[in-house]
Amino acid sequence: MGAVDGFSGDIELDDLDLDAEADEEADEASRGLFDDLLEGEPIFENKEVLRPSYTPHKLPHREEQINNMATILVTALRGDTPSNILIYGKTGTGKTASAKFVSEELETTSQKYEVPCEVQYINCEVTDTQYRVLAQLANKFIEKNETYIEDRLEDLEALRERVNDSDEPTTALEDTEFDGAVALEDRITTLEDDLEEFDPVPMTGWPTDRVYSTFFDAVDYHERVVVIMLDEIDKLVEKSGDDTLYNLSRMNSELENSRVSIMGISNDLKFTDFLDPRVKSSLGEEEIVFPPYDATQLRDILQHRAETAFKPDILTEDVIPLCAAFAAQEHGDARRALDLLRTAGELAERDRTETVEEKHVRKAQQKIELDRVVEVVRTLPTQSKLVLYATILLEKNGVHNINTGEVFNIYKRLCQEIDVDVLTQRRVTDLISELDMLGIVNAIVVSKGRYGRTKEIKLSVPLDETEAVLLSDSRVGEVEDAQPFVQARFDN
Ligand code: ADP
Ligand code: MG
Repeated sequence: MGAVDGFSGDIELDDLDLDAEADEEADEASRGLFDDLLEGEPIFENKEVLRPSYTPHKLPHREEQINNMATILVTALRGDTPSNILIYGKTGTGKTASAKFVSEELETTSQKYEVPCEVQYINCEVTDTQYRVLAQLANKFIEKNETYIEDRLEDLEALRERVNDSDEPTTALEDTEFDGAVALEDRITTLEDDLEEFDPVPMTGWPTDRVYSTFFDAVDYHERVVVIMLDEIDKLVEKSGDDTLYNLSRMNSELENSRVSIMGISNDLKFTDFLDPRVKSSLGEEEIVFPPYDATQLRDILQHRAETAFKPDILTEDVIPLCAAFAAQEHGDARRALDLLRTAGELAERDRTETVEEKHVRKAQQKIELDRVVEVVRTLPTQSKLVLYATILLEKNGVHNINTGEVFNIYKRLCQEIDVDVLTQRRVTDLISELDMLGIVNAIVVSKGRYGRTKEIKLSVPLDETEAVLLSDSRVGEVEDAQPFVQARFDN
């Protein structure tokens, strides 16, 4: 027996040795990739705080706007319908963050005082058709109703138990809305039936009026005030018109149990110009403007976040002021300011320096600018990409004062090469103007005396990176060797 024991013991030992060896090998294998990066003190304490998804609980310099919203919405806590609100302001002025903050406070307070009030937030950039908005609302309210019914049922079933256990059923029902065990039973059955009946809206396929009536019934299921927040409302109107808003804004005259109030949030100050006048006046009962932040305000915002985002003493003195100054130029965009600070921190981390410095902010600014350009260029339609590519080819060959005709000639050859329809020179001129508006090229009109007028076109973005993005497009990438076309221009 002893020998057998020893034998098996040996095997175990061998196994252990092998395991240890394997572990060591695995250690070696993974060291190169992550271990080096993990070494050294990290700069960030909590990077999440600098991400757009983080909702701060303190919003400096938005006290006035937040108080205005609260003053209007407090009506809901008194059981009345608040006025509809329209919120305007450029991107990054804190609209979404403030609205979410206010809605959380509103719901918490409504629970505290047991007033039925619910807020539903929808981002219309994502949910951008009437069908989708109504379907999402319907399904959210069906969900809320189900929870409401389940809670009610739990209470009533407990009551039923007390009634059954008691010798005096009527005493057990005293102070309740039920005058007898039968009424209680009926109520339970009704609620159970209701629970069965809710029919969630599929993401496509139903006629819109059926979606609307499902939503309507779900909202009206019991007494409450409902605040519907439609963020990026301008995107919804741009894509799908104002039918959704029209339908939502006239609901109150037909609802029996509940009341709806709408809070629209728009980046576009002029979007109400596209609305039906009735919708416009109903939606804009109250208006709140979010002005851009100035550099000092942005500094406060950054300072506040930096305290939790970074380890102590990581930022050198100039970092926050410089991020704030750059973002102030970018129409006072707090999102840009936070992006800059986060990216600067990441670049410092990559450099393995112990502090974040001014140079990291400058590099971050360049990187963000370039990312923006890449994204704009990447999503251009093929025709615009070809026009841009023609411009790049001319610049690469040292052509100065590029005019529309020259761009058009190269563009035409590129189209022929990859078998794309050639647009008229007039259309190409329009595309050049669009590229100008996007900040990708700079086109100025110059007079050529009696030969009329033309445009002089210059690239406003880094050439090599832009060319690389263009060539990564599956169609444009088909152009194998563009040099001959440009050469031909000189031979003409
Ligand atoms: P908008 O909806 O107006 O485009 P957001 O509310 O999304 O802007 O704000 C952009 C970013 O800036 C978010 O990360 C947000 O948390 C932050 N932010 C905006 N205003 C403030 C503020 N006053 N205090 C702290 N953070 C802010
Ligand atoms: Mg927003």
